[in-house]
Amino acid sequence: MTDTPKLTDPFQRRINYLRVSVTDRCDFRCVYCMSENMAFLPKKELLTLEELDRMCSAFISQGVEKLRITGGEPLVRRGIMEFFNAMGRHLDSGALKELTLTTNGSQLRRFARDLYAFGMRRVNISLDTLDEAKFADITRWGRLAQVLDGIDAAQEAGLRVKINAVALKGTNEDELETIVNWCAEQDMDLTFIEVMPMGDVGNEDRLDQYWSLKDLRSRLEKSWSLTDIAENTGGPARYTRVNETGQKIGFITPLTHNFCESCNRVRLTCTGQLFQCLGQEDEADLRKVLRDNPGDDPPLITAIHAAIARKPKGHDFDYSRQAVDGQMSRHMSHTGG
Ligand code: SAM
Ligand code: SF4
Repeated sequence: MTDTPKLTDPFQRRINYLRVSVTDRCDFRCVYCMSENMAFLPKKELLTLEELDRMCSAFISQGVEKLRITGGEPLVRRGIMEFFNAMGRHLDSGALKELTLTTNGSQLRRFARDLYAFGMRRVNISLDTLDEAKFADITRWGRLAQVLDGIDAAQEAGLRVKINAVALKGTNEDELETIVNWCAEQDMDLTFIEVMPMGDVGNEDRLDQYWSLKDLRSRLEKSWSLTDIAENTGGPARYTRVNETGQKIGFITPLTHNFCESCNRVRLTCTGQLFQCLGQEDEADLRKVLRDNPGDDPPLITAIHAAIARKPKGHDFDYSRQAVDGQMSRHMSHTGG
């Protein structure tokens, strides 16, 4: 048996984690993510479900062991459950170690049980507030009750839930303790995310919403004692344990450079562009290679290796001069959060 070629970038980082955005569409319009009247991509631009399967399978054949499906809202993509079902074969073969999802939770009541049946064991659910009115303000179109019900459905189905909360100055600052306690009671992990300067900001000014996690963390330390956990997942999260509750809290601070050196991931957009780094513009058009070579995977695999060989060392986000430097023009919903 020949060894599977592993994806390794120029800085000797092993790339074994692929995040895939399967749609740019969403049933919410979160203020930090989308404008209210987003123009979405024409359908023919999107990878079809078959193309998504081919693309993900090619990465898995090259050593990707963890697949996270995101969007937009992945669960609003028509037929997406067929794709999850199909990916289950890579879990069965042992090539894929984890199939997971980042979702706003709105569709979980419908889909959680099937997701579990297809081999998914964990989901990240985004929720920034437990206040109905604030939830409506942040998501514009979302309903808190529906998401809370989705979270219940996920837990009932046996999925382990992690809540992702964006730290928003003046919005969920006063709910910090409530959110931590709620997650502890429900036995859910929790990660806080700093607002990133993604997308054309429109009326929303990302700097106004920016609440540093350093500040958030000192606030936590007023109520609880925290012990940092050395665990490194190769991603931008740092973890701490709340000694009183035993729960694990993550902090994603994408604006600091403290995680690039151990980066193990790349991102595929719903149009088949591979971004080697969330904060850099360089991309590889894998859709073209895939469509130019129907039924023939070696050119795609060569293109994947060529793209990984161009993965940059790190990103350039910087709020330090009180201007949004290194700002990316694309939306999170396109690249996938
Ligand atoms: N719709 C799904 C959801 O909301 O979980 C998946 C896609 S969403 C783009 C993925 C994550 O990105 C969410 O946790 C969301 O809160 C986060 N996000 C979106 N825009 C962001 C921004 N400007 N800064 C930081 N996080 C952002
Ligand atoms: Fe939709 Fe997720 Fe973006 Fe909110 S953060 S608008 S739920 S894609």
